[in-house]
Amino acid sequence: MLKYKYKNWLTGAAICGALFSATAVNADDKVYRLKLAETWGANTPILGETSKKMAQLADSMSNGRLKISIDSSNKHKAPFGVFDMVRAGQYDIGHSASYYWKGKVPNTLYFTTMPFGMTTPEQYGWFYHGEGQALMNEVYGKFGMLSFPGGNTGVQMGGWFQKEINSLEDVKGLKIRIPGFAGEVWAKLGAKPVNIAPGDLYTALERKTVDAVEWVGPSLDIRMGFHKIAPYYYTGWHEPASELQFLVNKKKFAKLPADLQVILKTAMRSAAYDMYIQSYHESAVNWDTMKKEFPGIQVKSFPPEVIAAMRKANTELLAEAAAKDPLAKRIQDSQAAYMQKARAWTNISDKAYLNSLAD
Ligand code: CA
Repeated sequence: MLKYKYKNWLTGAAICGALFSATAVNADDKVYRLKLAETWGANTPILGETSKKMAQLADSMSNGRLKISIDSSNKHKAPFGVFDMVRAGQYDIGHSASYYWKGKVPNTLYFTTMPFGMTTPEQYGWFYHGEGQALMNEVYGKFGMLSFPGGNTGVQMGGWFQKEINSLEDVKGLKIRIPGFAGEVWAKLGAKPVNIAPGDLYTALERKTVDAVEWVGPSLDIRMGFHKIAPYYYTGWHEPASELQFLVNKKKFAKLPADLQVILKTAMRSAAYDMYIQSYHESAVNWDTMKKEFPGIQVKSFPPEVIAAMRKANTELLAEAAAKDPLAKRIQDSQAAYMQKARAWTNISDKAYLNSLAD
């Protein structure tokens, strides 16, 4: 009797095993191929490594069933056409930055970083556990796309300056390369923000065509060489948590089987977080190198009267945007409410810890 039962159990287990392996074999049959367009040029460090990591993760987690090919801007020739190409289905996925689309869809601005806004951990809290992800999909859903966090640079530095900024007077007429919302804030203070292609920035600063250049931070600035020609390195106020984005065509996403959807989302989230950590690491290592090679670099923070004027200009610009569009107001309110709670915690945790240490 015992022997009979054992035999039955074995048979049952064998049937179950056969069913499971049959399902697995069927699922393995189909390979899904997606095309990704990135804003970055071929072999761009850190930013360009992120989509490659994501694609490799998706491939290995899916046992080769999800293959993502990547075209950098050298290939597709449209670094700022990623939004349109993913929307049209010409590409299935994009890797870029949401604030590049603010001229097209103003509310995309809020999903990269905001001047005087959240730090990276605070903002990740808002995206993944607060309302951030849902609000982002509300904005992009109207264009047939999903958007996900795509990697963070951490706090960006305020830029490399040829001369010191000691007062609001020093800002008047200052020619500074700085894109986006921060450029609008500088303009309100009387500066002349310009946008120059990355390849021409060094020459522009060296020949004093511009007085200052904002780029990222030591992680990427070291390769640009600005520290060799501009002595003042200002701390940041404008991009406290610059998050890149993965854009996904909604119809293409819906066609993926449920397990590959989870794998794609997991690969994007993992690659995004890894970019944040890689940026932190490379900033630490590169800042050490820069200080050793160029001990004359002076780190400065903008004086309180300049910061106060920037905050005022920033608040006015946000209010103008909120008055024009109820969704802009909802996103701003959500960010402000989340930041208030998260910052109270940051203040008694990270900030208090660092303040408690002697320098
Ligand atoms: Ca920047």
